[in-house]
Amino acid sequence: MFRLVCVNCGADYNQNEIIYHCPKCGHLLTVEYDMDTIDISRAEWDKRPLRLWRYKELLPVAGEPVSLQEGGTPLYHLKTIGKELGLKELYAKHEGMNPSGSFKDRGMTVGVSMAIQLGMKTVACASTGNTSASLAVYAAKAGIPAVVLLPAGKVALGKVAQALMHGAKVIAIRGNFDKALEMVHDLCINEGLYLLNSVNPYRLEGQKTIGFEAVDQLGGVPDRFVLPVGNAGNISAVYKGLLELQNLGFIDSLPMMTGIQAEGASPVVDAIHNKREVLVPEANPETVATAIRIGAPVNAEKALRAIRETNGTAIAVTDEEILAMQRSLARKEGIGVEPASAASVAGIKKLAEEGLIDKDERIVCVVTGHLLKDPEAVIKQCEPPTEIDANLESLLSVLR
Ligand SMILES: *Cc1c(COP(=O)(O)O)cnc(C)c1O
Ligand SMILES: [Zn+2]
Repeated sequence: MFRLVCVNCGADYNQNEIIYHCPKCGHLLTVEYDMDTIDISRAEWDKRPLRLWRYKELLPVAGEPVSLQEGGTPLYHLKTIGKELGLKELYAKHEGMNPSGSFKDRGMTVGVSMAIQLGMKTVACASTGNTSASLAVYAAKAGIPAVVLLPAGKVALGKVAQALMHGAKVIAIRGNFDKALEMVHDLCINEGLYLLNSVNPYRLEGQKTIGFEAVDQLGGVPDRFVLPVGNAGNISAVYKGLLELQNLGFIDSLPMMTGIQAEGASPVVDAIHNKREVLVPEANPETVATAIRIGAPVNAEKALRAIRETNGTAIAVTDEEILAMQRSLARKEGIGVEPASAASVAGIKKLAEEGLIDKDERIVCVVTGHLLKDPEAVIKQCEPPTEIDANLESLLSVLR
């Protein structure tokens, strides 16, 4: 049993209403379960395979979900990078190992399942890339049409390729992501399409399972949970989920929620450091990490709460720091991620080097998307292959 509840005024709404904002005050909604009716034990969860739907009692979908076996992503101990930074317990949860190559699949398996449950015929989103790829994949699985709006010329090649191949109607607008979101929101309200951006409270329900899995994989709560922040949905979702585990008595502490943004797109960092209640949008966000190239994060209100209530922090990293960490993860740990994903680990490096965290902390960094999402950002950083004549002599001469 659950209701939709406004994060600002607390008004509540029936789960079958198609609303994305509180009709009374305009703020975002969140899913609130009646915890007394949740009948599950940790032992029962532990018997099921480590995947998102292991946690179905804390998800809103009734019946069979639209699923491609998302979740259950690896949690890697970063031994080499950790050693360099003096951090013994540094982990990366590789969300690039989801079906479409990013954590957005967790949101979409739940979001598209809810679309079907609510009787919606067409799904839509605006996207910096991964949301559109994931929506296209899950709409294909469900057999319903998807419409996606992208900022023209600003989306990584792999992501556009996925949205197109999986059959979404892909529209590139001459404007940035924030503008695309405003447009698709109007489209959905006026034409009755189902909006699956992170203003949709059900999507965040799926994404909160990153936190559940990390706790199960570590056998306890980490001291710190680090995420790259764009629209700030994911950090809000992980916090919400862990609060629920605490309410159920499954865990007895919460990690310090830590958000990393790119310099040039860091309004959440600004709000934390300058103790602002309401964040000041960045009109022209710019960064190589296109997945977090967002100036007006829609979930800022939830995210600021997550960071402040857990005594966490937020910090910005430069494009150079992001790309250097992308290379380190690839070459020292064998972990291939897209630039935005490397931001979480780049942020921890900076916090450790500046002495802002305790080196004994157990830290989970979420690395959010796969290396192949943005092949152009990769190729630009690497030497091209060495081309030679097809004989052994030439081969030996280049290897010498
Ligand atoms: C969507 C996305 C993010 C940002 O997540 P938010 O929930 O918008 O903060 C970060 N990295 C990747 C790879 C993404 O696709
Ligand atoms: Zn309200």
